[in-house]
Amino acid sequence: MIYLDIAVFALADADWQLALDPYIDFANYQLASFDMRLNVFPARPSIPTGIPLVGEVWDPPPDFGLHMRPGDVRTAAGVVLPTGHGMPVIFCRIHQPRDGLTTYQEDTVANRGVPWLNYVLLQQHVLSRDRSALLHEIIHAANYQGNIDPWGNRLLHDSARDSIMRMGDTYPTDPPVFMAERHAAALRTAYFARYA
Ligand SMILES: [Zn+2]
Repeated sequence: MIYLDIAVFALADADWQLALDPYIDFANYQLASFDMRLNVFPARPSIPTGIPLVGEVWDPPPDFGLHMRPGDVRTAAGVVLPTGHGMPVIFCRIHQPRDGLTTYQEDTVANRGVPWLNYVLLQQHVLSRDRSALLHEIIHAANYQGNIDPWGNRLLHDSARDSIMRMGDTYPTDPPVFMAERHAAALRTAYFARYA
């Protein structure tokens, strides 16, 4: 069995109740085929670790102004929980209309130059229609390489529309999504994967 350790946080104005359990259930259902499972801290039904910040997180941020960036909430997560419990997953108000995002270590703008290991933000008060947002972002955080959508040296997404790593909005004609062996291969090498 491989445990994927994640530590869930929520900003003070972020609703996580709507999505957290459905996201965990969907992820564990998909992961079970590959002998993997999420290990969530704090374990449910305990509530996520609170971060005493409010307001929108911008990625990318505008050129001017004091807008919160992903790195700001990541830094705050390290203050409220100094001991690592796995890859941070932070519910917050993401300014852009998206279900979640992964911030990569090399994203110096988002991280204000701090080389945080990859981490995930989830949109508060949104439950993505296919319930895949958490697992999708976790696979990004495992440095998965798809076949479309270049960003730096990465190809972020899959062209296959039934892939959990499909890109962008879902369309009414889209099929359900599934996790495949190539996604599991990335997860096995993730810094938050633990063999037990
Ligand atoms: Zn994505």
